[in-house]
Amino acid sequence: MTADGKQHKGIVIYCSDPRPNLWKHIKEMLIPPSEIFIPIPLLGGPISLVHQTTLNIEYRCLRTQIDFALAVFSPQEFLVIGHDCGYYAKVGQNFPLSGKVSDIEKAVEFLWECYHLPVTGNFWHQEQKQFETITEVSPIA
Ligand SMILES: [Zn+2]
Repeated sequence: MTADGKQHKGIVIYCSDPRPNLWKHIKEMLIPPSEIFIPIPLLGGPISLVHQTTLNIEYRCLRTQIDFALAVFSPQEFLVIGHDCGYYAKVGQNFPLSGKVSDIEKAVEFLWECYHLPVTGNFWHQEQKQFETITEVSPIA
């Protein structure tokens, strides 16, 4: 809990590319004002969770950050954000937008399998200036 009594509610994994300004949009559109999400920004965002071999350093860095945040802040859910990310150049394949969207689905499934916390995957559409919910998983009630 923070000084003003807010609970740490979740973790947000997103790309730190400053051009789409994802953190601003995430805070405005996806996170209720009463909730605190721990931002884990890095270039490429969650894509190393799907391309673990090619982006192995990024993958290990991200997992280390997630594990530390889980241990220290006890968040209750994940929010995974995708966008039309230029970091795919490092994957060495020509990725269509549809592949980047479906990678968010895979990243959500992977986090769910690892941590068994609710995970929501959103994709930022720059031209429409809005998020699209791709998939959500949560424990069976
Ligand atoms: Zn990006």
